[in-house]
Amino acid sequence: MKIARCTTAVVEANYDYTFVRIETEDGTYGTGECFFAPGLTAALAEMFPLLIGRDPREIDRLARMLWRKGSGAGAVAGYLFNAVSGIETALFDLVGKLYGVPCYQLLGGKMHPAVRIYADCHAGDNLESWGPMLIPRRPKWLTALVPEGDEQDERYEPEMYRRRAEQMVAAGFTAMKFDIDSIITYTGEELLRPITDAEVATMAACVAAARQGAGPNVDLAVDCHWRFSPSDALRISRALAPYNLMWIEDPCPPENWRDMADLRAGSPAPILTGENLNRRHGFWDLVVNRAVDLVAPDVQKCGGMLEAKRIGELAELQGIRFAPHNIASPLGVVAASHVCITLPNFVALEFHGADVPFWDALITRPNRPEVLIESGYVHLDETPGLGCELNEEVAREYAKPGESWFGE
Ligand code: MG
Repeated sequence: MKIARCTTAVVEANYDYTFVRIETEDGTYGTGECFFAPGLTAALAEMFPLLIGRDPREIDRLARMLWRKGSGAGAVAGYLFNAVSGIETALFDLVGKLYGVPCYQLLGGKMHPAVRIYADCHAGDNLESWGPMLIPRRPKWLTALVPEGDEQDERYEPEMYRRRAEQMVAAGFTAMKFDIDSIITYTGEELLRPITDAEVATMAACVAAARQGAGPNVDLAVDCHWRFSPSDALRISRALAPYNLMWIEDPCPPENWRDMADLRAGSPAPILTGENLNRRHGFWDLVVNRAVDLVAPDVQKCGGMLEAKRIGELAELQGIRFAPHNIASPLGVVAASHVCITLPNFVALEFHGADVPFWDALITRPNRPEVLIESGYVHLDETPGLGCELNEEVAREYAKPGESWFGE
């Protein structure tokens, strides 16, 4: 049993959905997804020769080999692990197919009947597309929906939050998340600028409206994208206390876990972070110091499916819950779901594709509905591997110009 061929394809959706395919000599293949990054398919191409001729069943051994080889290039963390994550996931899909079992069985079996999904609601409207350095772009599908010149300035008003929450409840979601950092007008260059009372009040009004739209039976989280100092984050958390948040995400810059620990000590709302951390090593300080209430590894970035499971288990030892970050295609959401369904401390998995018009059409699953998320849940059946395939007919229509399509 040997790996014979490794290829990539990129779909230009709201982000670059970057896929890896790994094939054995007999043509059996697995597909994984990587979190986007600049130069990612070039990095993958540099890794592929290391895999050719190796036994795909040695998933962990191959992943660790890539960690070690990458460290020689200076990458003990960072986006080389996006590449490793996609390769590792493709190996899981392939090995599941080889043994005829779904990936969650390879990871220890189900802890939950289905995987609870939370809707990322941005701040209302979320119809957009971003390049790998988060520069806005206009692929053809986006221009067809919103002709150039018709773009509206983003408006962060309570009414939009309320309406969006109502829409997501109507779609069956029992948990959702809104951005609150973008309500106030400053940019990334002004990181840590002290915020005013008026800005805190505006955030509170938007969250109050979201709570009104969501109702009391839905879990509500907010994302701050690392914008605030610990003291301002505490002010925000206190102002939002009446709305009983499921968590406040990334309140402070990510470099210092002590900020998070200080904040956790006084914050009425639980604290979540981790979407940019790699392997257990990246989560170690947060977990051993009990600096957060929830960890949010991204399965397409943290090192892959087995590594995400281990991060969840590491967190479990400290009573910390597991709510993975996710902005992937449906294939990436399915891969993350296979991990989530095996973890006792799993809370909810992110879904960031609600406004991508072709999102559900990107995959096919035997004997399953055409919609991946059914009333806020992903269901996993006995289909081997990930249990889904890229719908290449559809996906190819959105192929990123200049990138190869699985070797073609
Ligand atoms: Mg986030």
